[in-house]
Amino acid sequence: MTLAARFTRPARAQGNRPPARPASARSSDVIIVGGGLQGLSSAVHLARRGVSVRLLEAEYCGRHSSGVNAGGVRTLGRHVAEIPLSLAARDRIWHHMEEFAGHDGGFVPSGQLQVCETDADVAAAKARIAELEALGYTHETWADQATVRELVPSMSHHVLGGIWVKDDGYAYPYHVVTAFRASAERAGAEILEQQRVTRLWHEAGVWHVQTQRGTYEAPIVINTAGAWAGELAEQVGDPVPLLADGLMLMVTQRVAPFVEPVLGAMGRPLSFKQYANGTVVIGGSLRCEADPVGRHAIVDMATMRNSAITVTDLFPHLRNMQVVRAWAGVEGFLPDQIPVIGPSVASPGVFHAFGFSAHGFELSPIIGEIMADLVEHGESRLPIHPFRVNRFTQQENT
Ligand SMILES: Cc1cc2nc3c(=O)[nH]c(=O)nc-3n(C[C@H](O)[C@H](O)[C@H](O)COP(=O)(O)OP(=O)(O)OC[C@H]3O[C@@H](n4cnc5c(N)ncnc54)[C@H](O)[C@@H]3O)c2cc1C
Repeated sequence: MTLAARFTRPARAQGNRPPARPASARSSDVIIVGGGLQGLSSAVHLARRGVSVRLLEAEYCGRHSSGVNAGGVRTLGRHVAEIPLSLAARDRIWHHMEEFAGHDGGFVPSGQLQVCETDADVAAAKARIAELEALGYTHETWADQATVRELVPSMSHHVLGGIWVKDDGYAYPYHVVTAFRASAERAGAEILEQQRVTRLWHEAGVWHVQTQRGTYEAPIVINTAGAWAGELAEQVGDPVPLLADGLMLMVTQRVAPFVEPVLGAMGRPLSFKQYANGTVVIGGSLRCEADPVGRHAIVDMATMRNSAITVTDLFPHLRNMQVVRAWAGVEGFLPDQIPVIGPSVASPGVFHAFGFSAHGFELSPIIGEIMADLVEHGESRLPIHPFRVNRFTQQENT
């Protein structure tokens, strides 16, 4: 029986969805390992299709990257392979988040601007826009110096222009986690926290998934275990060079409104935004050490200082602003900085979505749709070949 046949349900109208079949005490159609946004999104999409879903989370939902990230809803600057997914996530779901999840997740379509401070930055930005246009993508556009000043009047005058994406924005990670979790539960998914999966094995046609509280069974397993997903992938025969690393953010005191779009810089690592309450969240690929066994990351103030300097270079009037809190989350990174998304090559019935390498928040609403399509139909409507799990071990360059 194909995976598609296993879960075929009668077609139904969007507004008239039956609840998912309830999972029995130990068995369900699908087990999802990991209650970050990729796991929760998968639970939402699958349960809405009538599939019985049990999600097992080692700690609590949103405890790691999904709950502590910068909330950037960014298609700007994406790896070309991620563009179709990120545009689908933004245009089909982020801009309709209330309809999708019963809460808007605090999504603000503020636009995102990546500023150029040198002639080399300008050349790189224009080359990037031309490269995308040649591929048929027009969402990244050139903003000249006057346009940048109109978008952000308080910006330092040394800025020469930038790449502008008007439909990008930001949201509040914890609101999104909470909304996705509530949506999954409303649709009938069962979410069990404090259940760390330690072992997976296939026997008598089903996967057995062991946690410290018991063993659960399902014909399908989805691995969305974030920075820890490599251990599970290895157990099912899909070794991947996944690195658990830390990513840092800091937040400032409240200051008068001075910037609406999310800002990044072309020539140096920076991402920052000002929330409605006046606080400014500053980050931008600020890596630090992680302790995956202790399940935390360690803030490194020396690295954070560089981002603070970039902010005050762009906005000199912020020189005396106080940083009130800094934190770090544990994220899974892959060598090519794009995730693994797709079926296991070694173990039928297992699907992976992990290794989002610091930019999986924006993709999360569409990752669940992809997982549900793979489970239900055996294929994704969006192109996922570049994200195959065996790309690091394959000899041929396909
Ligand atoms: C500081 C920071 C800033 C970021 N900023 C942005 C941004 O602005 N925009 C953007 O798009 N992305 C951003 N990201 C990246 C984004 O947050 C992540 O890519 C995304 O949240 C990953 O989601 P996930 O579900 O794969 O992982 P996670 O949220 O880490 O969830 C994985 C879950 O699996 C659980 N788990 C692990 N092992 C097991 C097991 N054995 N059994 C059961 N459960 C298990 C974990 O406890 C965890 O809850 C940022 C990340 C960080 C850390």
